[in-house]
Amino acid sequence: MSSLKTIGIIGAGQMGCGIAHVSAMAGYKVHIYDLSQDRIESGLATINGNLARQVASGKTSDEDRKAALALITGSSDLNDLAPVDLAIEAATEDESVKRKIYSQVCPVLKPEALLATNTSSLSITRLASATDRPERFMGIHFMNPVPVMKLVELVRGIATDESTFSTAKAYVSSLEKTITVAEDFPAFIVNRILLPMINEAIYTLYEGVGTVDAIDTAMRLGANHPMGPLQLADFIGLDTCLSIMQVLHDGLADSKYRPCPLLVKYVEAGWLGRKSGRGFYDYRGETPVPTR
Ligand code: NAD
Repeated sequence: MSSLKTIGIIGAGQMGCGIAHVSAMAGYKVHIYDLSQDRIESGLATINGNLARQVASGKTSDEDRKAALALITGSSDLNDLAPVDLAIEAATEDESVKRKIYSQVCPVLKPEALLATNTSSLSITRLASATDRPERFMGIHFMNPVPVMKLVELVRGIATDESTFSTAKAYVSSLEKTITVAEDFPAFIVNRILLPMINEAIYTLYEGVGTVDAIDTAMRLGANHPMGPLQLADFIGLDTCLSIMQVLHDGLADSKYRPCPLLVKYVEAGWLGRKSGRGFYDYRGETPVPTR
């Protein structure tokens, strides 16, 4: 374990729940905050379901599942984050949302507490400037699904101090994840490479080069990817994919990062992928059905 004892998670979505899950499995006390009690309940149910699946597949014991669940609490009261040693913000990928959260949470946190963001793409230095503790702020970027994926990217802002970085490193190592260090450039390493590939797959669909099924089959069997790019986009969340492309486009000012208009259209329709029941596939039936 690191010197940290209690971890606060801001946002009970797919990433916040995954970070809570692996932190509790490593023995940390975890408190999850989200905007409503409903979101907390559904987040806790997701964690419970994922832990139960790990027990069923023999990856963990029922005792460990119970012990982890007993370490996790949740509420829609921001003040409940007061005792945490490290707060990890895993809220919607929107800079204005994150800035507002920092303005509300900083006065609640202990002065010595660390604050991290799980952002997929936004500037750590710019986000840090919206907090009262830029030297104790950094990016801890987990991959989805957190309990399965081995990698975590660590990203320093310009002001992040060495003890913040080494504490984050010890925390991530205690979760048995592998660390890669990225510099503070738009979308860091993984998404700088991955998202333009996904965006190109969406252009391929938009231009009629192939159907959803043809594109995903082509990349699964032709490039040996475990998931097709459109299936992966649905898994990430199309709103998150669009935000990352916009950050790349704005931050690097290169037209090669132009978000595909079809991606914009899906997001405008509220077809956000798995989490909303429909994206490039429709998940409302027994098996996913391509929507194009
Ligand atoms: P999500 O849509 O599943 O969850 C976001 C959660 O944030 C929701 O529960 C929402 O209610 C909550 N939220 C919104 N505003 C809030 C506020 N003001 N206070 C508290 N909670 C608030 O999104 P996600 O996929 O979990 O992504 C969360 C973050 O993690 C984003 O920054 C995203 O870029 C990053 N990320 C996502 C992935 C991925 O594959 N989805 C991977 C790595 C990192």
